Amino acid sequence: MRNCENCNLCCKLPEIPSINKKSYSWCKNCEIGVGCNIYNNKPKKCEEFTCAYLECFTDLKPNKVGFMIFPQNEMSYEHKVFTVYCEEFKLQNFIKNIKKDWKMQRMIENKWAFHIRYNQDDDKLAIYDPNAFDDKLIFISRKEVQSANKK
Ligand code: SF4
Ligand code: SF4
Repeated sequence: MRNCENCNLCCKLPEIPSINKKSYSWCKNCEIGVGCNIYNNKPKKCEEFTCAYLECFTDLKPNKVGFMIFPQNEMSYEHKVFTVYCEEFKLQNFIKNIKKDWKMQRMIENKWAFHIRYNQDDDKLAIYDPNAFDDKLIFISRKEVQSANKK
């Protein structure tokens, strides 16, 4: 497993309810580019979180490309869906960056898709699933995805 080094992107993009941290805003405990100021007492969610870069599933470093990739839960493996939190201004480069990484290309060949959150609105999703759709982002609401999954 790798080290985060100077990346702190997961201290900005996801919400962390236990410390009242909203999504897409920096945690007040984060020293950007350095680390966590409450490292020994950080919330369980922070303690347990690992992204695909940290686990070596991808070589795309989150703070360089502006997005972080991870499997949301056990169902992610069954449905072959990665969750992505992406900076909204980096979304236009998402496909270009994914194509640079042979590990992610291998996942796509194995029919994995990406559900991308890109701002504070939890209901807005961009989907990248070139096996099911064209080679482009599809914009959809999370409610639509959930109702399609139930069918
Ligand atoms: S996004 Fe990944 S690499 Fe970056 S700080 Fe979080 S766990 Fe580490
Ligand atoms: S508590 Fe620490 S590890 Fe958790 S989001 Fe804040 S700065 Fe990051």
